[in-house]
Amino acid sequence: EGTSDGLFRVILLGDPGVGKSSLVGIFRREQDRESAEQQQELYQCTLTVDGEDTSLLLMDICEIQKRTDGCNRALRMGHAYIIVYSVTDRSSFESASELRIQLRRTRQYENIPIILVGNKTDLVRSREVSVEEGRACAVVFDCKFIETSAVLQHNVQELFEGMVRQIRLRREGA
Ligand code: GDP
Ligand code: MG
Repeated sequence: EGTSDGLFRVILLGDPGVGKSSLVGIFRREQDRESAEQQQELYQCTLTVDGEDTSLLLMDICEIQKRTDGCNRALRMGHAYIIVYSVTDRSSFESASELRIQLRRTRQYENIPIILVGNKTDLVRSREVSVEEGRACAVVFDCKFIETSAVLQHNVQELFEGMVRQIRLRREGA
């Protein structure tokens, strides 16, 4: 249950450019803003949800992948996953399905919290993936679903709060 220091590793997966760093960036404290430029790939935050604090270690794995042995490690080390695609990029939606399949294959006996995220909803005119398709995909892959806009900060708080609730549900069910 979490790491020895009570942290839950939440790994963001998804094609380059879908908005993983932007979603995580919203939770950087002010003093971290400067280093945001440096593409920091790890970020720790504590969220108060339903009156209880939970600490998450958010990992933007795309950055880490470049340096380590790739996706496999990422698929093994997370307590929870956020799989991001861009609603303006159908191929990123297909990659998200692929990632979900890989995750299921790697962690088949574990019931890990997963949220599928369709980001960039503000780009209304270039949308390629409908909300219905996203929702249907989440049903097929048995995970939660939310659409967000990192730029407008729409549904981002809800995403991370939802993640905390998922983690707690699993913890209580264990
Ligand atoms: P990453 O490669 O998945 O980490 O993606 P980034 O967070 O670096 O974002 C890639 C590009 O998409 C950047 O130019 C972001 O400003 C832009 N971006 C990210 N999220 C959104 C969003 O919700 N709406 C719009 N319009 N652009 C976004
Ligand atoms: Mg990034």
